[in-house]
Amino acid sequence: MKSKLALLGGEKAVQSDPGDIFSWPIITKEIEEAVLEVLRAGKMSDIDVTMKFEKAFAEWLGVKYALGHNTGTAALHSAMFGVGIGKGDEIICPSITYWASCLQVYSLRGTVVFADIDPETLCIDPNDIVKRITPRTKAIMVVHYLGMPADMDAIMKIAEEYDLKVIEDCSHAHGALYKGKMVGTFGDVAGFSLMSGKSLPCGEGGMMTTDDRRIYERAIAFGHYARHNFALTLEDLKAGAGLPWGGYKYRMNQLTSAMGLVQLKYYPKLMAEIDRAMNYFWDLLEGVPGIRAHRPPKGSGTTKGGWYAPHGIYHSEELGGLSIYRFCEAVRAEGAPCVPGCNLPLHLHPLFNTIDVYNEGKPTRIANCPPGVDVRQPPGSLPVSESIQERVFTVPWFKHYRPEIIEEYAYAFRKVAENYQDLLPGDTKRGTAGGWGMTRMIREAGT
Ligand SMILES: *Cc1c(COP(=O)(O)O)cnc(C)c1O
Repeated sequence: MKSKLALLGGEKAVQSDPGDIFSWPIITKEIEEAVLEVLRAGKMSDIDVTMKFEKAFAEWLGVKYALGHNTGTAALHSAMFGVGIGKGDEIICPSITYWASCLQVYSLRGTVVFADIDPETLCIDPNDIVKRITPRTKAIMVVHYLGMPADMDAIMKIAEEYDLKVIEDCSHAHGALYKGKMVGTFGDVAGFSLMSGKSLPCGEGGMMTTDDRRIYERAIAFGHYARHNFALTLEDLKAGAGLPWGGYKYRMNQLTSAMGLVQLKYYPKLMAEIDRAMNYFWDLLEGVPGIRAHRPPKGSGTTKGGWYAPHGIYHSEELGGLSIYRFCEAVRAEGAPCVPGCNLPLHLHPLFNTIDVYNEGKPTRIANCPPGVDVRQPPGSLPVSESIQERVFTVPWFKHYRPEIIEEYAYAFRKVAENYQDLLPGDTKRGTAGGWGMTRMIREAGT
């Protein structure tokens, strides 16, 4: 099909006003009322509403304990402390993720070893995990990246074989299923970000979940001193009650809890609509050269929950070598949001190589390693992570199933891919792909 690309002076593929199809978070009257009620009662720093939210969250997920935190970062920090990460311990984490999947380990006197990702799922590659295990490895940090559940069968098998803890970072995948079972219920403990850009947005907050009483209580000892008097039952923890072991105060603001309670009630319905909309978008692009969906196979029982930060996979070799920069530029000209890249590979950042955060006389990454051990990973050590930026691009994140609108956006991508030859002559500019934080990129993409 020949039609003139908007970048070259043709008509835009997207003609209709998208309305509120991208608006996020969706703030309803019911949320406003719930938040105002807490505000008017002056109960922002109490924990009664938070405890209701925790109970609802645990029931929804199907786990015993949920502990509210003021950020997802804090929830994951508590999870790491919960499983007992301490001096010299290593966690294995994918290099392609948001920094809050691992950076908190420094303050526990531990360190991180990065594993490569699978180029199709974009999640941690189980085969690479095995190569990164050392006698010091304590836990695997699994990130269900961009809503895609990681290969939990393989990961749990490795964890069992090597006696490792598994922490699931579910900040991109609230409600996603792996073979019919909700992510966050496979490992020893899970952390969820509830910040406003995520698919279960509650303001600013995080949730730690577990079935393990000891992990739960350790997290309480760590950053929830106000609960020590009633929630600690284990003698060794009770001995240090009254003050937070970590020196952190991780309590959730009850404005977040109030919003969360309402969000959770409607989330399954919302998630189903997003899933329908996103699958429709990708169905329309099935078979288009150069671009592939980042989604689980149909009928596998695996789903992407709320499809946080949806991306596509780019195959420039099918488009005559067209750069992803030019591809995305042309899609944007058609009126659809699209930027190249995702989170940058963490193992290459100075904070994981040279920076001495705590004045220990050596880079913090290796400050607690045994003498002679250097876990740093130079360029070239994680090839998939290092080459992924020009292989992925953002796609619109539809919050509603409105076929006519979605069709226009899908057409923008199809039109560019099918007319790629017209773009090759001007394909000289290179931009930047990826960033250290995802929310900024999504905003830049315009959704
Ligand atoms: C957002 C995010 C977090 C941290 O959550 P905050 O609520 O922003 O602190 C952790 N891990 C991943 C993968 C995230 O995307």
